[in-house]
Amino acid sequence: MAVTRRTVDDGSAFEHPLYKTLLNTPGLSVSVAPLDDLLTWGLTNSLWVFPMATSCCGIELMAAAAGRVDLDRMGTIVRGTPRQADVMVVAGTITVKMAPRVKLLWDQMPEPKWCIAMGSCAISGDFYRELYSVVPGVDTFLPVDVYVPGCPPNPEALMHGLLRLQEKVQLQRQGQKVVRDPNPALLAITKPSVPRLCDADRTAEMDAAQEESAATSTASEPRAPLHFDTPAAQAVDPDLQRLFAENGVKDFPREGPALVPAAQHLALARKLKAQGFRQLVSIVASHWPAGRGRKGADAEEPEHFEVAYLVRSVGSGTRVATWAVRLAPGESIASLVPVYAGADWQEREQYDLVGVPFADHPDLRRLMMAENYSGHPLRRDFAADTAAAPWR
Ligand code: SF4
Repeated sequence: MAVTRRTVDDGSAFEHPLYKTLLNTPGLSVSVAPLDDLLTWGLTNSLWVFPMATSCCGIELMAAAAGRVDLDRMGTIVRGTPRQADVMVVAGTITVKMAPRVKLLWDQMPEPKWCIAMGSCAISGDFYRELYSVVPGVDTFLPVDVYVPGCPPNPEALMHGLLRLQEKVQLQRQGQKVVRDPNPALLAITKPSVPRLCDADRTAEMDAAQEESAATSTASEPRAPLHFDTPAAQAVDPDLQRLFAENGVKDFPREGPALVPAAQHLALARKLKAQGFRQLVSIVASHWPAGRGRKGADAEEPEHFEVAYLVRSVGSGTRVATWAVRLAPGESIASLVPVYAGADWQEREQYDLVGVPFADHPDLRRLMMAENYSGHPLRRDFAADTAAAPWR
């Protein structure tokens, strides 16, 4: 009897690893069709899952594997390694930094393999899709076979998705590939509401409007005048006032922390620590484009950065002290790591997100974003979807 082997019609054919062995086994080649059915049955009923669970949807994935839904009864078990898995279930938001790692794990899964995007975050990025850090759908870098919609989809929905995947695998094994006509209405729904940087309908006006919005959203909205308790407290604390004055502070404005000259900043931190301010609470950098600043719009204001520090004393009667350093673009500021060990990752974060260089930092490299990420997403002139563009 002639041996015919069923393949997939789109060039992505796969065959079970046992296929050749069984075909070469004397006597078995006479029953190719039942053998095919047997292998297909085995394949579809042993879809082992690699759980790429990153957030809330991961809980539903865990529930699906637990007693009530019990994925085991359809031969689907969850494995903690990609090497013995057939299906990657991406359950949760995937960030730009995670995406290369997810792809690496996908590449480590043996063929044949499939991917299920579980939940709106994995499908499209959901409400995070316009964020600088989020991949707008894993199908931008992985071939997704089944989409399980919902936020989150419940365990039964995941099981339904696996049943649909079983159908798809069976059809592939039978050489039938279902290609559905694209639904124009669906295409419109799945398109990002803000066109990506590389989309044809993205205009220069859109870039400009986005930059303007980012630059003004915190500076021009009408609101009550800012009131910082801490600088005011510093103003009435004679010890702190003296200390700050010795380090170049001329006044204690109410619209923000006192400005300390960059050259004095490290010395001030040392003195504060010596006086009991032993905890570094936060380091926050902000970027102001030309014409903007802490007081709002000002045509004279050049582009600049401000790095604000907050330290506190520990124990009863705790006190806080805060100051800021103003920097020109490209100007660096002394690292506080020699004074506060906790400044290490906080400075890395501000370097990563805002682009402020900290001189003499022992390990100044990105913290939140991927190593090859381009730009600094919390600068006010950063187009929010720049980072997502390469994934489209
Ligand atoms: S789709 Fe909803 S439930 Fe799932 S990860 Fe996103 S936010 Fe969480």
